[in-house]
Amino acid sequence: MKNDEFRKHAHQMVDWIADYFEDIEDYPVKSKVSPGQITNSLPSEAPFEGEKMDDIFENFKKIIMPGITHWQHPGWFAYFPANSSPPSVLGEFLTAGLGVQGMVWDTSPAATELEEVVMNWLRKMTGLPDRFTGVLQDTASTATLCALLSAREKVTGFKTNQRGFHQKLRIYTSSQTHSSIEKGVKIAGFGRENLVYIDTDDRFALIPEKLEEAILRDLENGYTPCCVVAACGTTSSLGMDPLKETGQICQKHNVWFHIDAAFAGTAAIVPEFRYVLDGAELSDSLVFNPHKWMLTNFDCSAYFVKEPEILRQTFSLMPEYLKTAADEKVNNYRDWGIQLGRRFRALKLWFVIRSYGIEGIQKMIRQHVRLGQLFASWVEKDENFEFTAPPNLTLVCFRWVQKGLSEEELNTYNEKLLHRINGQGDIYLTHTKLNGKYTLRMSIAQRNTQQHHVEKAWRIITKAANDPDE
Ligand SMILES: *Cc1c(COP(=O)(O)O)cnc(C)c1O
Repeated sequence: MKNDEFRKHAHQMVDWIADYFEDIEDYPVKSKVSPGQITNSLPSEAPFEGEKMDDIFENFKKIIMPGITHWQHPGWFAYFPANSSPPSVLGEFLTAGLGVQGMVWDTSPAATELEEVVMNWLRKMTGLPDRFTGVLQDTASTATLCALLSAREKVTGFKTNQRGFHQKLRIYTSSQTHSSIEKGVKIAGFGRENLVYIDTDDRFALIPEKLEEAILRDLENGYTPCCVVAACGTTSSLGMDPLKETGQICQKHNVWFHIDAAFAGTAAIVPEFRYVLDGAELSDSLVFNPHKWMLTNFDCSAYFVKEPEILRQTFSLMPEYLKTAADEKVNNYRDWGIQLGRRFRALKLWFVIRSYGIEGIQKMIRQHVRLGQLFASWVEKDENFEFTAPPNLTLVCFRWVQKGLSEEELNTYNEKLLHRINGQGDIYLTHTKLNGKYTLRMSIAQRNTQQHHVEKAWRIITKAANDPDE
Protein backbone atom coordinates (compact mmCIF):
# COMPACT_ATOMS: atom_id res chain seq x y z
CA MET A 1 0.00 0.00 0.00
CA LYS A 2 1.30 3.39 -0.95
CA ASN A 3 1.52 6.04 1.74
CA ASP A 4 -1.09 8.34 0.18
CA GLU A 5 -3.52 5.41 0.10
CA PHE A 6 -2.72 4.68 3.74
CA ARG A 7 -3.46 8.30 4.58
CA LYS A 8 -6.83 8.18 2.80
CA HIS A 9 -7.96 4.90 4.40
CA ALA A 10 -6.70 5.87 7.84
CA HIS A 11 -8.87 9.00 7.78
CA GLN A 12 -11.80 6.98 6.53
CA MET A 13 -11.45 4.42 9.31
CA VAL A 14 -11.01 6.99 12.05
CA ASP A 15 -14.31 8.48 10.86
CA TRP A 16 -15.83 5.03 10.94
CA ILE A 17 -14.64 4.46 14.54
CA ALA A 18 -15.96 7.86 15.64
CA ASP A 19 -19.35 7.02 14.05
CA TYR A 20 -19.26 3.65 15.78
CA PHE A 21 -18.74 5.34 19.16
CA GLU A 22 -21.70 7.61 18.39
CA ASP A 23 -24.08 4.93 17.09
CA ILE A 24 -23.07 2.02 19.27
CA GLU A 25 -26.52 1.77 20.86
CA ASP A 26 -28.00 0.89 17.45
CA TYR A 27 -26.27 -2.50 17.63
CA PRO A 28 -27.49 -5.46 19.71
CA VAL A 29 -24.99 -5.74 22.61
CA LYS A 30 -24.40 -9.44 22.02
CA SER A 31 -23.73 -10.75 18.54
CA LYS A 32 -26.60 -12.83 17.15
CA VAL A 33 -24.63 -15.01 14.73
CA SER A 34 -24.67 -18.79 15.06
CA PRO A 35 -21.54 -20.96 15.29
CA GLY A 36 -19.79 -21.28 11.92
CA GLN A 37 -21.69 -18.42 10.29
CA ILE A 38 -18.65 -16.14 9.99
CA THR A 39 -16.34 -18.95 8.85
CA ASN A 40 -18.79 -19.96 6.16
CA SER A 41 -18.97 -16.41 4.82
CA LEU A 42 -15.21 -16.29 4.24
CA PRO A 43 -13.11 -18.01 1.55
CA SER A 44 -11.12 -20.98 2.79
CA GLU A 45 -8.06 -20.00 0.72
CA ALA A 46 -5.96 -16.87 1.19
CA PRO A 47 -6.04 -14.58 -1.86
CA PHE A 48 -3.07 -15.04 -4.19
CA GLU A 49 -3.28 -11.53 -5.57
CA GLY A 50 -3.52 -8.55 -3.23
CA GLU A 51 -6.98 -7.01 -2.86
CA LYS A 52 -8.22 -3.44 -2.66
CA MET A 53 -8.61 -1.88 0.79
CA ASP A 54 -12.08 -0.61 -0.21
CA ASP A 55 -13.19 -4.22 -0.75
CA ILE A 56 -11.57 -5.44 2.45
CA PHE A 57 -13.23 -2.67 4.44
CA GLU A 58 -16.63 -3.41 2.87
CA ASN A 59 -16.28 -7.06 3.89
CA PHE A 60 -15.31 -5.98 7.39
CA LYS A 61 -18.57 -4.07 7.67
CA LYS A 62 -20.74 -6.75 6.08
CA ILE A 63 -19.22 -9.99 7.34
CA ILE A 64 -17.20 -9.22 10.46
CA MET A 65 -19.35 -6.62 12.19
CA PRO A 66 -22.41 -8.90 12.66
CA GLY A 67 -20.12 -11.27 14.56
CA ILE A 68 -18.98 -8.57 16.97
CA THR A 69 -20.23 -8.40 20.55
CA HIS A 70 -20.12 -4.78 21.61
CA TRP A 71 -18.06 -4.49 24.78
CA GLN A 72 -18.16 -0.67 24.52
CA HIS A 73 -21.99 -0.62 24.50
CA PRO A 74 -23.52 1.12 27.55
CA GLY A 75 -25.81 -1.92 27.95
CA TRP A 76 -22.76 -4.07 28.69
CA PHE A 77 -23.41 -5.62 32.11
CA ALA A 78 -21.76 -8.99 31.41
CA TYR A 79 -18.61 -10.51 32.97
CA PHE A 80 -16.41 -7.50 33.78
CA PRO A 81 -15.92 -4.68 31.30
CA ALA A 82 -12.99 -4.38 28.89
CA ASN A 83 -13.22 -0.63 28.64
CA SER A 84 -11.60 1.27 25.86
CA SER A 85 -11.67 5.05 25.48
CA PRO A 86 -10.85 7.54 22.72
CA PRO A 87 -7.43 8.53 24.15
CA SER A 88 -6.55 4.86 24.55
CA VAL A 89 -7.45 4.13 20.92
CA LEU A 90 -5.28 7.05 19.81
CA GLY A 91 -2.34 5.77 21.85
CA GLU A 92 -2.82 2.26 20.47
CA PHE A 93 -2.93 3.66 16.93
CA LEU A 94 0.41 5.37 17.39
CA THR A 95 1.86 2.22 18.95
CA ALA A 96 0.83 0.28 15.85
CA GLY A 97 2.28 3.00 13.61
CA LEU A 98 5.62 2.95 15.39
CA GLY A 99 5.70 -0.84 15.33
CA VAL A 100 8.18 -0.90 18.19
CA GLN A 101 9.28 -4.07 19.91
CA GLY A 102 10.52 -3.04 23.36
CA MET A 103 12.23 -6.19 24.57
CA VAL A 104 15.26 -4.29 25.93
CA TRP A 105 15.97 -0.64 26.66
CA ASP A 106 18.15 -0.38 23.55
CA THR A 107 15.34 -1.41 21.19
CA SER A 108 13.40 1.77 22.12
CA PRO A 109 14.53 3.63 25.24
CA ALA A 110 11.26 5.59 25.42
CA ALA A 111 9.18 2.39 25.58
CA THR A 112 11.09 1.24 28.68
CA GLU A 113 11.32 4.62 30.40
CA LEU A 114 7.70 5.62 29.77
CA GLU A 115 6.65 2.28 31.27
CA GLU A 116 8.73 3.02 34.38
CA VAL A 117 7.12 6.44 34.69
CA VAL A 118 3.48 5.36 34.22
CA MET A 119 3.92 2.38 36.54
CA ASN A 120 5.17 4.77 39.22
CA TRP A 121 2.14 6.97 38.59
CA LEU A 122 -0.15 3.95 38.93
CA ARG A 123 1.55 2.82 42.13
CA LYS A 124 0.98 6.23 43.70
CA MET A 125 -2.56 6.47 42.32
CA THR A 126 -3.54 3.20 44.03
CA GLY A 127 -1.68 4.02 47.27
CA LEU A 128 0.76 1.12 47.11
CA PRO A 129 3.92 1.63 49.21
CA ASP A 130 6.89 3.06 47.32
CA ARG A 131 8.98 -0.06 47.72
CA PHE A 132 6.77 -1.69 45.08
CA THR A 133 7.91 -1.66 41.46
CA GLY A 134 5.58 -2.12 38.51
CA VAL A 135 5.81 -3.71 35.10
CA LEU A 136 3.14 -4.14 32.43
CA GLN A 137 2.02 -7.62 31.47
CA ASP A 138 -0.50 -8.63 28.84
CA THR A 139 -3.08 -10.10 31.22
CA ALA A 140 -3.71 -10.89 34.88
CA SER A 141 -3.34 -14.57 34.00
CA THR A 142 0.25 -13.95 32.90
CA ALA A 143 1.00 -11.78 35.93
CA THR A 144 -0.27 -14.50 38.26
CA LEU A 145 1.87 -17.06 36.44
CA CYS A 146 4.89 -14.77 36.96
CA ALA A 147 4.03 -14.62 40.67
CA LEU A 148 3.78 -18.41 40.92
CA LEU A 149 7.11 -18.89 39.14
CA SER A 150 8.81 -16.24 41.30
CA ALA A 151 7.42 -17.87 44.44
CA ARG A 152 8.65 -21.27 43.25
CA GLU A 153 12.15 -19.95 42.66
CA LYS A 154 12.31 -18.00 45.91
CA VAL A 155 11.23 -20.92 48.09
CA THR A 156 13.65 -23.34 46.38
CA GLY A 157 16.60 -20.91 46.32
CA PHE A 158 16.33 -20.62 42.49
CA LYS A 159 17.02 -24.33 42.15
CA THR A 160 13.83 -25.42 40.38
CA ASN A 161 14.87 -23.42 37.31
CA GLN A 162 18.13 -25.39 37.38
CA ARG A 163 17.19 -28.89 38.40
CA GLY A 164 13.45 -29.21 38.06
CA PHE A 165 11.12 -30.13 40.93
CA HIS A 166 12.59 -31.85 43.99
CA GLN A 167 10.13 -30.72 46.61
CA LYS A 168 6.38 -30.96 46.95
CA LEU A 169 5.37 -27.32 46.83
CA ARG A 170 1.87 -26.20 47.78
CA ILE A 171 -0.23 -23.31 46.51
CA TYR A 172 -3.28 -22.01 48.40
CA THR A 173 -6.25 -20.06 47.14
CA SER A 174 -9.93 -19.76 47.96
CA SER A 175 -12.54 -21.92 46.31
CA GLN A 176 -13.87 -18.72 44.66
CA THR A 177 -10.73 -17.53 42.91
CA HIS A 178 -10.32 -17.19 39.18
CA SER A 179 -9.54 -20.17 36.94
CA SER A 180 -6.26 -18.47 35.94
CA ILE A 181 -4.79 -19.61 39.28
CA GLU A 182 -5.38 -23.27 38.47
CA LYS A 183 -4.06 -22.73 34.95
CA GLY A 184 -0.91 -21.05 36.31
CA VAL A 185 -0.38 -23.87 38.81
CA LYS A 186 -0.53 -26.41 35.99
CA ILE A 187 1.76 -24.45 33.66
CA ALA A 188 4.33 -23.78 36.39
CA GLY A 189 4.55 -27.52 37.06
CA PHE A 190 3.23 -27.63 40.64
CA GLY A 191 0.51 -30.09 39.66
CA ARG A 192 -3.21 -29.60 40.16
CA GLU A 193 -3.10 -31.85 43.27
CA ASN A 194 -0.87 -29.33 45.02
CA LEU A 195 -3.37 -26.52 44.64
CA VAL A 196 -5.19 -26.37 47.97
CA TYR A 197 -8.61 -24.74 47.89
CA ILE A 198 -9.59 -22.94 51.10
CA ASP A 199 -13.23 -22.55 52.17
CA THR A 200 -14.93 -19.17 52.10
CA ASP A 201 -17.43 -17.52 54.44
CA ASP A 202 -20.95 -16.29 53.67
CA ARG A 203 -19.47 -13.26 51.89
CA PHE A 204 -17.41 -15.56 49.61
CA ALA A 205 -14.19 -14.42 51.27
CA LEU A 206 -11.34 -16.74 52.23
CA ILE A 207 -11.42 -17.85 55.89
CA PRO A 208 -7.93 -17.10 57.28
CA GLU A 209 -8.16 -19.74 60.04
CA LYS A 210 -8.79 -22.42 57.41
CA LEU A 211 -5.79 -21.19 55.46
CA GLU A 212 -3.51 -21.47 58.46
CA GLU A 213 -4.87 -24.92 59.30
CA ALA A 214 -4.08 -26.09 55.77
CA ILE A 215 -0.55 -24.68 55.90
CA LEU A 216 0.14 -26.35 59.27
CA ARG A 217 -1.28 -29.66 58.08
CA ASP A 218 0.93 -29.54 54.97
CA LEU A 219 4.03 -28.71 57.04
CA GLU A 220 3.32 -31.73 59.21
CA ASN A 221 3.02 -33.93 56.13
CA GLY A 222 6.33 -32.83 54.61
CA TYR A 223 5.04 -30.37 52.01
CA THR A 224 6.56 -26.93 51.45
CA PRO A 225 3.99 -24.09 51.45
CA CYS A 226 5.01 -21.87 48.54
CA CYS A 227 2.40 -19.27 47.62
CA VAL A 228 -1.02 -17.95 48.63
CA VAL A 229 -3.14 -16.23 45.98
CA ALA A 230 -5.80 -13.98 47.47
CA ALA A 231 -8.56 -12.23 45.55
CA CYS A 232 -9.41 -8.59 45.89
CA GLY A 233 -12.74 -9.01 44.12
CA THR A 234 -13.55 -12.55 42.99
CA THR A 235 -14.95 -12.94 39.50
CA SER A 236 -18.23 -14.57 40.51
CA SER A 237 -19.33 -12.15 43.23
CA LEU A 238 -16.53 -9.61 43.93
CA GLY A 239 -15.83 -11.38 47.21
CA MET A 240 -12.97 -9.72 49.09
CA ASP A 241 -10.44 -11.99 50.78
CA PRO A 242 -9.15 -10.50 54.07
CA LEU A 243 -5.78 -9.27 52.80
CA LYS A 244 -4.32 -8.24 56.19
CA GLU A 245 -4.99 -11.50 57.95
CA THR A 246 -3.93 -13.51 54.91
CA GLY A 247 -0.74 -11.47 54.59
CA GLN A 248 0.10 -11.96 58.27
CA ILE A 249 -0.26 -15.72 57.93
CA CYS A 250 1.99 -15.65 54.85
CA GLN A 251 4.65 -13.66 56.70
CA LYS A 252 4.52 -15.98 59.70
CA HIS A 253 5.09 -19.05 57.53
CA ASN A 254 7.35 -17.38 54.99
CA VAL A 255 4.99 -17.96 52.08
CA TRP A 256 4.79 -15.76 48.96
CA PHE A 257 1.64 -13.60 49.04
CA HIS A 258 0.12 -12.70 45.66
CA ILE A 259 -3.02 -10.58 45.27
CA ASP A 260 -5.30 -10.91 42.25
CA ALA A 261 -7.10 -7.55 42.12
CA ALA A 262 -7.75 -7.78 38.37
CA PHE A 263 -11.03 -5.88 38.37
CA ALA A 264 -11.46 -4.28 41.81
CA GLY A 265 -7.91 -2.96 42.25
CA THR A 266 -8.88 0.09 40.19
CA ALA A 267 -11.26 1.18 42.97
CA ALA A 268 -8.21 2.03 45.11
CA ILE A 269 -7.69 5.12 42.93
CA VAL A 270 -10.62 6.72 44.79
CA PRO A 271 -9.74 7.68 48.40
CA GLU A 272 -13.01 6.41 49.91
CA PHE A 273 -12.55 3.00 48.21
CA ARG A 274 -8.82 2.67 48.88
CA TYR A 275 -9.67 0.27 51.72
CA VAL A 276 -10.01 -2.49 49.07
CA LEU A 277 -6.22 -2.76 49.08
CA ASP A 278 -5.77 -2.59 52.88
CA GLY A 279 -3.19 -5.25 53.61
CA ALA A 280 -1.67 -5.11 50.12
CA GLU A 281 1.45 -3.67 51.73
CA LEU A 282 2.06 -7.20 53.08
CA SER A 283 2.00 -8.75 49.63
CA ASP A 284 4.96 -9.86 47.52
CA SER A 285 3.10 -9.19 44.29
CA LEU A 286 -0.20 -7.79 43.06
CA VAL A 287 -1.96 -7.43 39.73
CA PHE A 288 -4.80 -5.25 38.51
CA ASN A 289 -6.08 -4.62 35.01
CA PRO A 290 -6.26 -1.11 33.55
CA HIS A 291 -7.81 -2.97 30.60
CA LYS A 292 -10.88 -3.69 32.68
CA TRP A 293 -11.98 -0.65 34.66
CA MET A 294 -9.40 2.00 33.77
CA LEU A 295 -10.29 3.07 30.25
CA THR A 296 -7.30 1.42 28.58
CA ASN A 297 -8.11 -0.95 25.77
CA PHE A 298 -7.12 -4.59 26.04
CA ASP A 299 -4.40 -5.71 26.76
CA CYS A 300 -2.82 -3.92 29.71
CA SER A 301 -2.21 -5.48 33.14
CA ALA A 302 -0.33 -3.71 35.91
CA TYR A 303 1.88 -6.10 37.89
CA PHE A 304 3.61 -4.86 41.04
CA VAL A 305 6.33 -6.67 42.95
CA LYS A 306 8.07 -5.95 46.21
CA GLU A 307 11.42 -7.39 45.11
CA PRO A 308 11.99 -6.99 41.37
CA GLU A 309 15.32 -8.78 41.82
CA ILE A 310 13.42 -12.06 42.39
CA LEU A 311 11.40 -11.53 39.22
CA ARG A 312 14.53 -10.80 37.22
CA GLN A 313 16.42 -13.74 38.67
CA THR A 314 13.51 -16.02 37.80
CA PHE A 315 13.36 -14.96 34.17
CA SER A 316 16.74 -13.54 33.21
CA LEU A 317 18.73 -15.20 30.46
CA MET A 318 21.75 -13.68 28.78
CA PRO A 319 22.29 -15.02 25.29
CA GLU A 320 25.12 -13.20 23.53
CA TYR A 321 22.88 -11.70 20.86
CA LEU A 322 20.78 -9.87 23.45
CA LYS A 323 23.64 -8.19 25.33
CA THR A 324 23.84 -4.41 24.98
CA ALA A 325 26.21 -1.69 26.19
CA ALA A 326 23.49 -0.17 28.37
CA ASP A 327 22.65 -3.36 30.33
CA GLU A 328 24.28 -2.17 33.55
CA LYS A 329 22.34 1.09 33.66
CA VAL A 330 18.82 0.31 32.51
CA ASN A 331 15.79 -1.95 32.85
CA ASN A 332 15.52 -4.63 30.23
CA TYR A 333 11.89 -5.64 30.56
CA ARG A 334 12.41 -8.94 28.74
CA ASP A 335 13.72 -10.13 32.15
CA TRP A 336 10.50 -9.09 33.93
CA GLY A 337 8.16 -11.67 32.46
CA ILE A 338 7.63 -14.60 30.18
CA GLN A 339 7.78 -13.24 26.68
CA LEU A 340 10.86 -11.79 25.02
CA GLY A 341 9.13 -9.38 22.63
CA ARG A 342 7.06 -6.65 24.22
CA ARG A 343 4.39 -4.35 22.88
CA PHE A 344 4.66 -0.64 23.64
CA ARG A 345 1.65 -0.70 25.98
CA ALA A 346 2.74 2.19 28.16
CA LEU A 347 1.86 4.72 25.46
CA LYS A 348 -1.91 4.18 25.58
CA LEU A 349 -1.83 4.13 29.38
CA TRP A 350 0.05 7.44 29.37
CA PHE A 351 -2.53 8.90 26.97
CA VAL A 352 -5.39 7.73 29.20
CA ILE A 353 -3.98 8.96 32.51
CA ARG A 354 -3.04 12.36 31.06
CA SER A 355 -6.24 12.83 29.12
CA TYR A 356 -8.65 11.95 31.97
CA GLY A 357 -6.43 12.96 34.85
CA ILE A 358 -6.74 11.17 38.18
CA GLU A 359 -9.87 13.24 38.73
CA GLY A 360 -11.58 11.97 35.58
CA ILE A 361 -10.81 8.35 36.44
CA GLN A 362 -12.11 8.85 40.00
CA LYS A 363 -15.29 10.40 38.66
CA MET A 364 -16.00 7.35 36.49
CA ILE A 365 -15.33 4.92 39.36
CA ARG A 366 -17.60 6.86 41.73
CA GLN A 367 -20.35 6.98 39.13
CA HIS A 368 -20.23 3.21 38.56
CA VAL A 369 -20.25 2.43 42.28
CA ARG A 370 -23.20 4.80 42.77
CA LEU A 371 -25.12 3.05 39.97
CA GLY A 372 -24.27 -0.35 41.47
CA GLN A 373 -25.72 0.71 44.80
CA LEU A 374 -28.80 2.17 43.12
CA PHE A 375 -29.46 -1.07 41.26
CA ALA A 376 -28.92 -3.05 44.48
CA SER A 377 -31.54 -0.87 46.22
CA TRP A 378 -34.13 -1.82 43.57
CA VAL A 379 -33.38 -5.53 43.93
CA GLU A 380 -33.64 -5.22 47.70
CA LYS A 381 -37.06 -3.56 47.54
CA ASP A 382 -38.59 -5.99 45.04
CA GLU A 383 -40.02 -9.11 46.72
CA ASN A 384 -39.64 -11.10 43.48
CA PHE A 385 -35.86 -10.84 43.66
CA GLU A 386 -33.14 -11.59 46.19
CA PHE A 387 -29.37 -11.17 46.48
CA THR A 388 -27.28 -14.32 46.17
CA ALA A 389 -24.19 -12.49 47.47
CA PRO A 390 -23.77 -9.15 49.25
CA PRO A 391 -23.63 -6.44 46.55
CA ASN A 392 -20.15 -4.97 46.32
CA LEU A 393 -18.90 -1.87 44.47
CA THR A 394 -20.27 -2.25 40.93
CA LEU A 395 -21.53 -5.83 41.03
CA VAL A 396 -24.97 -7.08 42.07
CA CYS A 397 -25.54 -10.84 42.20
CA PHE A 398 -29.24 -11.64 42.32
CA ARG A 399 -31.97 -14.02 41.23
CA TRP A 400 -35.72 -14.17 40.76
CA VAL A 401 -37.53 -15.99 43.59
CA GLN A 402 -40.98 -17.26 44.36
CA LYS A 403 -42.25 -19.12 47.44
CA GLY A 404 -43.04 -22.78 47.03
CA LEU A 405 -40.57 -23.48 44.20
CA SER A 406 -37.68 -25.89 44.69
CA GLU A 407 -34.06 -24.80 44.22
CA GLU A 408 -33.99 -26.76 40.98
CA GLU A 409 -37.09 -25.02 39.66
CA LEU A 410 -35.66 -21.65 40.63
CA ASN A 411 -32.42 -22.44 38.81
CA THR A 412 -34.30 -23.42 35.65
CA TYR A 413 -36.45 -20.31 35.82
CA ASN A 414 -33.47 -17.98 36.29
CA GLU A 415 -31.53 -19.58 33.48
CA LYS A 416 -34.46 -19.06 31.11
CA LEU A 417 -34.89 -15.55 32.44
CA LEU A 418 -31.29 -14.70 31.56
CA HIS A 419 -31.80 -15.93 28.00
CA ARG A 420 -34.98 -13.85 27.65
CA ILE A 421 -33.16 -10.76 28.92
CA ASN A 422 -30.20 -11.21 26.58
CA GLY A 423 -32.33 -12.18 23.59
CA GLN A 424 -33.90 -8.73 23.69
CA GLY A 425 -30.64 -7.06 22.53
CA ASP A 426 -30.40 -3.84 24.55
CA ILE A 427 -28.49 -5.29 27.48
CA TYR A 428 -26.20 -8.23 28.13
CA LEU A 429 -25.77 -9.96 31.50
CA THR A 430 -23.95 -13.18 32.35
CA HIS A 431 -24.44 -15.68 35.14
CA THR A 432 -22.62 -17.60 37.82
CA LYS A 433 -23.54 -20.18 40.45
CA LEU A 434 -23.24 -19.27 44.12
CA ASN A 435 -23.95 -21.98 46.72
CA GLY A 436 -25.66 -23.91 43.94
CA LYS A 437 -27.95 -21.00 43.08
CA TYR A 438 -28.15 -19.90 39.44
CA THR A 439 -27.26 -16.22 39.74
CA LEU A 440 -27.62 -13.23 37.43
CA ARG A 441 -24.63 -10.89 37.59
CA MET A 442 -25.29 -7.21 36.99
CA SER A 443 -21.85 -5.65 36.54
CA ILE A 444 -22.12 -1.88 36.03
CA ALA A 445 -18.74 -0.58 34.92
CA GLN A 446 -18.90 0.15 31.20
CA ARG A 447 -17.44 3.59 30.44
CA ASN A 448 -20.58 4.78 28.61
CA THR A 449 -23.17 3.49 31.07
CA GLN A 450 -25.39 6.23 32.52
CA GLN A 451 -28.19 6.04 35.06
CA HIS A 452 -30.88 5.85 32.36
CA HIS A 453 -29.21 2.72 30.95
CA VAL A 454 -29.36 1.07 34.37
CA GLU A 455 -33.01 2.12 34.78
CA LYS A 456 -33.81 0.66 31.38
CA ALA A 457 -31.99 -2.56 32.30
CA TRP A 458 -34.11 -2.92 35.44
CA ARG A 459 -37.29 -2.39 33.38
CA ILE A 460 -36.18 -5.09 30.92
CA ILE A 461 -35.27 -7.51 33.73
CA THR A 462 -38.49 -7.06 35.71
CA LYS A 463 -40.64 -7.27 32.59
CA ALA A 464 -38.88 -10.45 31.43
CA ALA A 465 -39.37 -11.93 34.90
CA ASN A 466 -43.01 -10.95 35.29
CA ASP A 467 -44.32 -11.57 31.75
CA PRO A 468 -42.36 -14.67 30.71
CA ASP A 469 -44.58 -15.37 27.73
CA GLU A 470 -44.21 -12.07 25.96
C1 LIG B 1 -10.71 -10.85 34.82
C2 LIG B 1 -10.04 -11.54 35.94
C3 LIG B 1 -8.93 -12.36 35.71
C4 LIG B 1 -8.41 -12.66 34.34
O1 LIG B 1 -7.88 -11.53 33.75
P1 LIG B 1 -7.05 -11.62 32.39
O2 LIG B 1 -6.37 -10.29 32.34
O3 LIG B 1 -8.04 -11.81 31.29
O4 LIG B 1 -6.10 -12.75 32.49
C5 LIG B 1 -8.31 -12.92 36.80
N1 LIG B 1 -8.75 -12.71 38.05
C6 LIG B 1 -9.83 -11.93 38.30
C7 LIG B 1 -10.25 -11.71 39.72
C8 LIG B 1 -10.50 -11.31 37.27
O5 LIG B 1 -11.54 -10.51 37.52
